[in-house]
Parts: sequence; structure tokens; C-alpha cells
Amino acid sequence: MLGLMMNTPLLISSIAEHGANYHGDREIVSVTVDNPRHRYTYRECVARSRQLANALASLGANTGDRIATLAWNDYRHIEAYYGISGAGYVCHTINPRLFPEQLVFIINHAEDRWVFTDVMFVPLLEAIADKIPNVEGFVIMTDEQHMPETTLKNVMCYETLLANESSEFEWPDLDERSASALCYTSGTTGDPKGVLYDHRSTVLHAYAAVTPDVMAMSSRDSVLPVVPLFHVNAWGVPYATLMVGAKLVMPGPKMGDGEALCELLDSEDVTLALGVPTVWLALLQYCQSAGKRLDKLQRTVIGGAAVPRSMIQEFRDQHGVEARQGWGMTEMSPLGVVNTLKAGLEGLSDDEQLDLAAKAGRGIYGCEMRIVNDEGEQLPWDGEAYGALQVRGPWICSDYFKLEGAAGSHTDDGWFDTGDVATIDPEGYMAITDRTKDVIKSGGEWISSIELENTIMAHSAVAEAAVIGVAHPKWTERPLLVVVKAEGQDASAEELLKFYEGKVANWWIPTDVEFVEELPHTATGKVKKIELRQQFKDYEWSA
Ligand code: ADP
Repeated sequence: MLGLMMNTPLLISSIAEHGANYHGDREIVSVTVDNPRHRYTYRECVARSRQLANALASLGANTGDRIATLAWNDYRHIEAYYGISGAGYVCHTINPRLFPEQLVFIINHAEDRWVFTDVMFVPLLEAIADKIPNVEGFVIMTDEQHMPETTLKNVMCYETLLANESSEFEWPDLDERSASALCYTSGTTGDPKGVLYDHRSTVLHAYAAVTPDVMAMSSRDSVLPVVPLFHVNAWGVPYATLMVGAKLVMPGPKMGDGEALCELLDSEDVTLALGVPTVWLALLQYCQSAGKRLDKLQRTVIGGAAVPRSMIQEFRDQHGVEARQGWGMTEMSPLGVVNTLKAGLEGLSDDEQLDLAAKAGRGIYGCEMRIVNDEGEQLPWDGEAYGALQVRGPWICSDYFKLEGAAGSHTDDGWFDTGDVATIDPEGYMAITDRTKDVIKSGGEWISSIELENTIMAHSAVAEAAVIGVAHPKWTERPLLVVVKAEGQDASAEELLKFYEGKVANWWIPTDVEFVEELPHTATGKVKKIELRQQFKDYEWSA
């Protein structure tokens, strides 16, 4: 027997209309290339999204067409999020930091019909224009006054496109399983793979994101996503904010600028900020050197890479900010786990609480987890056993776009294999040991590079660190610590290795240390271990 409840579809357009109806005066503040502080309201944003939807119809877009964006975090990009997806097209967010060959690959693979681009990415597109012949036109997200000279064909000005259209638009009554957005993984191995989100997964994910033990977002918050709109839908923040009516503050091209971020956080009364560890390193370093305290910020959600314990501690002790670690993936919309204290654990000492906070986090309702061994057998949640981490849930991909199972990413019983190796403790807190491909195997035993990196980040002379496995005649592989020194600080290799004593098992301690000027990063700000391993593949061990 079926229940007797309405089958109202979960649609992205309904989030936009809810935001405009209930929180119409709430502000969206952006830094853009041509305006240091643009501000307007939800009402204006949603009206312009409807204008954009009309413009796309005028251009001849059909339901399901892919329309790409190549843009920073600002208000026009939010309008594209709602205007494109809400009207039934697929918003394909492109990471401008990808290599040109990758850009060509994903634009062609996605079969993008139009590309909406910030002015500063026009040269990027010009350089690849002859390799993306199926793109019918380019919309430059600016006004007539700031339109650049360009060799691109069929160029339109975003503001002019909108100005010709009505702000009345009837959002289509879509099937909630209709595709809404497309985001490619950064493709550290092989070609990038497309993750195709739908309306239902997006709305359910936003519901989960706002809950107290996840992002804890309400209408009284002011939220700054430093995570880019081109990286897993900025972790769902554009949807979550309009769902609850939180103020949305966006840094535009100022993502990695500690000083600019600090100023934005303060002047826009930001209570919640989200981003990968690298951006917070820049912010914390700036605060330290300029003697600033983040007085208004209450919480940060940090994920995308392991969060050093020392970073969580610095946020807490120097700024009174709760830093919540999270773990997820492009394939997971991205939220999988977030780290907050469970009832019953309040009695843990300060130090124990920090140890716990350094784990990835505990399960969110909507994302089931399990760890399995090589035979596919489930491993116990004892905090010791580590195995392949698999997940399942309504906002986790069931396949990649146009790959039809070829990626081999899913198990026969329908779980997604994350490619991460993890432990889960009896309280349900999961900790990532490594990515499968970064695992270091020494004398037949695994060593966690993440734990070694985390530990050394607490040393004051270390600005950034990575640990990789390098071939070793006796142990197959041994860990090599690669360090970028903090400005004005010094430490010898011996001193750094000594720092590990008593903190990790003796045989885990890296065999050598190499100092470098900087580490190679991926387009999403993670250390490129593949490149590092390549760089040190012929490394000669000192002893
Ligand atoms: P990409 O796969 O393109 O690098 P994702 O953002 O999808 O980009 O990366 C997801 C991966 O990032 C995870 O599989 C995991 O390896 C890593 N990751 C994310 N959050 C954490 C975390 N809190 N601790 C350790 N690793 C993390």
C-alpha cells in the first residue's frame, strides 16, 4: 500500500523561489574583477536567473543541453547556477586551472553548446577555440563597458543578453531525477570523468548540509564559500544558503589572498567559511603576521584534503573558531562525513578532542559507509583495521557521464568504491589513511602518509609537507618527507625526524627529508603526489 502524500518533485528552481519569497532582502555580496564589492538581494538574483532562463530559451537551448561556466565565485555565477539548472539545462562548471588539453577534453566530452566565461578566462578559451568547434557561442559575464577585444566567435555580453529578457519565467515542472549539473574530477589518473548531478540529489544534499552536525547553517548566518563554484558545486553552499536564507559572501578572484579574505570575513560579518586546507594556511599565516584575530567567524568547514591537527588547534586557540573537518568527493556531491563531537564524548580532554577532530568525521544520514579488505569482506569498526572505503546513498553517483560502467568504480552490490583507504572507530568516526594510489608499503606493512604529514605540520618550521613512498632496496618502499619551510624559520632534517619520536611508530618515521621551495598542486589545491613521486623516483637514500 502506498502512502497518501504529495509527490512534489525536489527541484533546484524551488530553492530559488523559496529564497526569493521568504528571504527576498537577504544579501549576496561579491568581489568581482570590475567591482571590489558588488551587493544585491536574493530577490534580484532570482529575478536575473529567470531572465537568464528566458535568454537561454531565446538562444535555442533544449532540455538537457550542457551549458558551461568558466568563472570565479560571484553573483553572476550564482545566477547561472539557478538559471541554467532551474530551466532544465545542465550547468557544467569548468575548473579554469585545468591544463588546456583537459579543458578541450571536457568541453568536447560534455558537448557544451555555450560557454559562459569571466573576462579573465577569455585568453584561455581563445587558445583552445579551434579545438572546441561544437561550442556555438561564448557569453562573457560582464557589461558592455568591460567587454574585452577577442578573437572568439559568436561572443555575447552577459548583461546585454539579460537586459533583453523578462524577469517573469515559469520554471518547468521537471522530473526530479533530471540532470542538473556536471562536474569533472580533476583526472589525476587518466582522462577526467564527469559526475552528473540531478535535482533530487542536489536538494537532498542541501537538506543534509544545513543540519546542525554538518554545516549548521541558518538564516542568521553569513557564509563565505572559499571553495570554488567550479569544484563540486562549492560543496552545495549555493543551494544550502538560499534554502535557509543565509547571507552569501563570495571572494571572486581573491580566493588565495589571506589579507583579502580576512578583510571580507570581518567587514561582512561572516560566521561560517568553507574551503580546502591550503586556503586556510594562507589566511592563518596572514593573521599571524598582521596580528589579526578572526573575531566574528564562528565555524569553518575544511575538507578536500586531510586537515592538520595543528590547523584545527590554531583556529580554536588563536581565534575561538570551531574548525570542522569534512570528507567527501566530487562523486558524492561531495558530503560524506563531517567531524563534530558526539553526545557522550564531552568528557574527552582538550588533547583527546583534538585527536578526534583530526579524523575525517562521522557519518551523515544519507551516506552509508563500509570498509572492506581485498576479498571484499567487511572489516570491523575498531579504529584499527583499514580497508577500501565504499559508500552508498542518494547523492552519490551511480556511474560517470557516458562511461556506462567502464570506470569499474562500483561494486556488484551497488556501492561506490571511493579509492580511499580508511579506518572507522567504534563511535563511527572515519579516518582516511591514504588514497589507494598514495599508500606507502614498507616491508609489507602500510604506512599512512596522511598521518605523517599531519604530525609534522605541528612543527613551527614547516609551512607545508608531503610524504611519499620511494623505492628502497631493503624495504621495497620507505617514506620520504618533502618540506617547504615556513618563512623566516629553520630546522634541520635531523630535528624534523626527531620531532616524530613518540608521536608515531618508530618504523613509520620517514627515512629522509628533502627541502623544496614549493610543492606541486592540483587544480583544486591538493598536493600532486604523482608529480612528487616522479620528481623523486631516482632518489638516493642518505644512509
Ligand atoms: P579529486 O578527486 O578531483 O582530487 P575531490 O575533491 O573529489 O577531487 O577529491 C576527493 C578526495 O580528496 C577524497 O577521495 C580523498 O582522498 C581526499 N579528501 C577529501 N577530504 C579529505 C579529508 N578530510 N581527509 C583526507 N583526504 C580527504
